[in-house]
Amino acid sequence: VKDAAELPYAFYTEEMELESQRLLKLKKELDNALEYNQFELYFQPIYFTPDKKVAKVEVLVRWNHPELGLVMPGSFIPLAEETGLIIPLGKWVIEHACQALGELNYRGIDIGMAINLSPRQLSDRTLGPFIEQTIQEFKIDAKKIELEVTEGLLIYNFETVLSQLQALRAVGISLSVDDFGTGYSSLSYLKRLPINALKIDRSFIMDIANDANDKAIVSAVIAMAHKLNLLVVAEGVEQQNQLQFLADNHCDFIQGFLLCKPQPFERLCLTLEQK
Ligand code: C2E
Ligand code: CA
Ligand code: CA
Ligand code: CA
Repeated sequence: VKDAAELPYAFYTEEMELESQRLLKLKKELDNALEYNQFELYFQPIYFTPDKKVAKVEVLVRWNHPELGLVMPGSFIPLAEETGLIIPLGKWVIEHACQALGELNYRGIDIGMAINLSPRQLSDRTLGPFIEQTIQEFKIDAKKIELEVTEGLLIYNFETVLSQLQALRAVGISLSVDDFGTGYSSLSYLKRLPINALKIDRSFIMDIANDANDKAIVSAVIAMAHKLNLLVVAEGVEQQNQLQFLADNHCDFIQGFLLCKPQPFERLCLTLEQK
C-alpha cells in the first residue's frame, strides 16, 4: 500500500494487521518447509500447436502446508526471495525436476522440461555449475531443459547473469523470457540475452478473442519473435477461441487450463501415457 493514511482507519487496523501477521507466520514456517519436505512439484504440459502433442512440461512448485493445505507459489515465492530461501529452494526444484525428467525418460516418455528461475538465483554464481552437475547426475540431455527467466534479471549484476546464461546455453540448455510484455525492458532482453523463446503473458491472452488491441499485440509479437528466430509460447489459454486465434497466427506452443492444468507427478504420467 502506497499511502496507508488514505485507507479507512478500521480497514487498516484489522485487515492489514491480520494480513501482516499472516505473512510473518508464513515467512517463519517457510524456513522449515524445506527441511520438513513440504514442497511438491506440479507439472503443466505445454503443447506443440500444429499437432497438439505435449512438447514439454513446466515445473510449478507448491507448498503442502500442515494447516493451510496447498499453498500456491504466488504467496510464498516472493517471501522466499526476501528471506533468501529461494536459493536452496531453487536448487531443490532443479534437482527434483531433473529426477522427474529422468523418471519420465525411463518410462519411455520423451519430452522437455521448463524450470522457472527467480532473478536472484541467477545472481548466485554457484547456480550454473549446480545445474550442469545435476543434469549429469540424472543423465539428462541438456537439450531437454529450458529455463524461464523474467525481466527482474537486469537489476542484478549483468556480467554475472549474462556469463552464467551463456555457459548454460553453451551446454545446450534453452532460455525463455517469461511473462513477456509485462516488464519495462522486455525488448532489450531479446537484444542482450541469449534467448531461444518467449512466453506471452496470460494478461494478453485473456481477452484475445474480443479485444482488438490484444489481437494486434499478440500477432505482432509472434511475427517479431519469428523474425528473430525465437519460438513463442502462449500461456493461460482457457478457451477454444483463444487457441484458434493463436493457431491462426502461428504461435508455436500453447499452455493453459483448456488443455491441461498443472498436476502432481503421478497424474502427469497417466496424462502422458494416455496419448
Ligand atoms: P508463471 O511462471 O507465469 O506460471 C504460470 C502460472 O499460470 C502458474 O501458476 C499456472 O498454474 C498458471 N496457469 C497456467 N495455465 C493457466 C490458465 O489457463 N489460466 C490461469 N488462470 N492460470 C494458468 P502458479 O503455479 O500458481 O505459479 C505462479 C508463479 O509462481 C509462476 O508464474 C512463477 O512465476 C512462480 N513459480 C512457480 N514455481 C516456481 C519455481 O519453481 N521457481 C520460481 N522461481 N518461481 C516459481
Ligand atoms: Ca513460467
Ligand atoms: Ca509465465
Ligand atoms: Ca505469468
